[in-house]
Amino acid sequence: AIEEEMLEIENPITFDDIASLKGAKELLNEAVTLPLLIPEFFVGIREPWKGVLLFGPPGTGKTLLARAVASMSDIRFFNCSSAAMTSKWRGESEKLCKVLFQMARHYAPSIIFFDEVDAQVSQRGQDGEHEASRRFKSELLSQMDGIASGDASSGKNVIVLATTNCPWDVDEAMRRRLEKRIYIPLPDEDARTEMFKIYLKSLVLDEGVDVRELAGRTQGFSGADIKLLCRDASMMPMRRVILNKTPEQIRQMKLQGQLDSVKIPLLRD
Ligand code: ATP
Repeated sequence: AIEEEMLEIENPITFDDIASLKGAKELLNEAVTLPLLIPEFFVGIREPWKGVLLFGPPGTGKTLLARAVASMSDIRFFNCSSAAMTSKWRGESEKLCKVLFQMARHYAPSIIFFDEVDAQVSQRGQDGEHEASRRFKSELLSQMDGIASGDASSGKNVIVLATTNCPWDVDEAMRRRLEKRIYIPLPDEDARTEMFKIYLKSLVLDEGVDVRELAGRTQGFSGADIKLLCRDASMMPMRRVILNKTPEQIRQMKLQGQLDSVKIPLLRD
């Protein structure tokens, strides 16, 4: 059961589905993909990082990047959501952690992924920290040390990949083991333009819609914010055209393609 829960095969996504973040993609290739695929190259001073941390503001594509790394190559991806690690296996998370690393080594090359690692491995000694989570943490730290001392050239490499919005809340010992840190920033104007193109490509836009202008007007938006905006805009045909129509009329309109051709005047009103 643990195996099914953790070893997930998601809809494959690639780096091309993720706007911009060129530097982060290169670093991820260098820090995760290549050491797992050609371990013999990563020896000596080039020894692979035992842990990689993606950090930055919420909604900027950290989880997406991790999923893309996993689905691009022949690497097994163990997704350790905090729900799986804590609630269901409460009291057994220490054992689970051991099994997890055993499985990861068995299926290697593999990635053990902790999304929002600050929630799972928070600073030591915080109020209300349970004995169980303390034990989980110690087990995790020692397992990570085990990775580092493994034989890199055996091809049985395992890398821990984690994300956080609050790196300062991650347990210090864990943070130290997440040796390679990659900052994922909010998108700049070019990146926002690219995102609008990705998310609006299936919609019929009003002639006046200019993705550059949209990007200019959405400074400070994250990728997740832009996606929400586009989703909201995609509902416009429903708002404009469907109002006061009967269900039968609506079905007819859909059949005749009238809904799909409503032009969307994004941000112009
Ligand atoms: P959090 O820290 O809140 O978990 P995150 O950085 O992990 O956020 P994701 O979950 O990867 O963010 O992104 C949220 C959604 O925002 C994604 O599903 C995606 O739709 C969109 N998104 C974010 N960044 C990008 C990007 N660079 N290109 C395309 N879509 C993006």
